[in-house]
Amino acid sequence: MTTISCTVDLIEALTPTVNRVLLTPAQPVSFSSGQYLQLCLSDSDKRPFSIASMPGQRQLELHIGGSVADQYASQALAHLLQQHQLQQPVQAEIGLGNAQWRADSERPLILLAGGTGFSYVYSIAQTIAAANLDRPVFVYWGVREQAALYHNSVMQQWAAQNSKYRFIPVVQQPDDSWQGRSGMVHEAVLEDFVSLEAYDIYVAGPFAMAGVVRNAFIEQGAHREHMFADAFAYI
Ligand SMILES: Cc1cc2nc3c(=O)[nH]c(=O)nc-3n(C[C@H](O)[C@H](O)[C@H](O)COP(=O)(O)OP(=O)(O)OC[C@H]3O[C@@H](n4cnc5c(N)ncnc54)[C@H](O)[C@@H]3O)c2cc1C
Repeated sequence: MTTISCTVDLIEALTPTVNRVLLTPAQPVSFSSGQYLQLCLSDSDKRPFSIASMPGQRQLELHIGGSVADQYASQALAHLLQQHQLQQPVQAEIGLGNAQWRADSERPLILLAGGTGFSYVYSIAQTIAAANLDRPVFVYWGVREQAALYHNSVMQQWAAQNSKYRFIPVVQQPDDSWQGRSGMVHEAVLEDFVSLEAYDIYVAGPFAMAGVVRNAFIEQGAHREHMFADAFAYI
């Protein structure tokens, strides 16, 4: 883990409640795909955010927010905005977490995101594509409303690169225009796979979702040691 100063290059809205943030670290940083950073609001107030970018990219990308505006995100954003306006750096602890991408496995993959848990999945999905990985990869992204699928077209393009890649967006409360899957995202996975025994499963999203996923997927054959989620350490 390294603490580093970063300039705040960009804050832009992805949805009314989710923002994309780009940070440039003062020195090159080392992290693995799927790890997170802690944004230091003060010495005692540090908030974890998954790094959406890939290792080796100059900027660190974050997706901050959720389906409802809350203080966890809004206070972090206020801090970022203030430092951006003052042209002052923010401090971040980088390279945290144990749910990072494991390149050494041969198993097919399920990447499961709930809401802004997508940031974590996006980093891993990009790394997989950059490595030209030729294994089945199923990306599920669950959101409450379809407007929250801020990278839907990016992920459709990602899936079009390789016939073994699949992207399945799942909307919990769709309106009449939605043609895709609906309901809770973990239920879509349980419907699609008779057994999860063969899969490496990467998960990020609300803690409540992570808890439900852990229990339900193990019941459907998943091996706990092949399931990766930093949320498991919190619940
Ligand atoms: C290590 C770590 C990294 C984090 N990274 C980020 C980050 O990058 N950005 C950020 O803003 N916050 C982050 N957080 C904080 C927190 O995890 C997010 O704020 C939270 O995931 C946001 O959820 P949401 O509102 O987007 O999802 P929601 O809109 O609440 O849920 C999205 C979908 O998840 C599923 N789901 C939700 N609740 C349940 C349930 N009870 N049972 C089953 N399925 C459910 C449903 O399919 C739902 O449609 C992080 C926290 C930790 C500990």
